[in-house]
Amino acid sequence: MAGSVHCRCGELLVDEVTSAGVTPTGGAPIPFRRTTDYVVCPACHSVYQVDVLRGDRPVEDSLVGTAAEGESLVETLERLLESGGDPGDGR
Ligand SMILES: [Zn+2]
Repeated sequence: MAGSVHCRCGELLVDEVTSAGVTPTGGAPIPFRRTTDYVVCPACHSVYQVDVLRGDRPVEDSLVGTAAEGESLVETLERLLESGGDPGDGR
């Protein structure tokens, strides 16, 4: 449901997830877009699919993978999504 989401490591991931977008910790709300449909934990660099966080599913279900040291989010996603197959259309 809407509300703050915590990483599996306990770190606060986003302040709020709504149907319109996410509010990152200490940041301004970000409307959902394909390229911003992921959030990265600032502590352990786990990458989550925000689309899943929006629902009632546990945070583990939205875990895409973990960013490597020095890797940009785009690079991480390209690597993870390539190996993981079709991520779906956000449905
Ligand atoms: Zn974490």
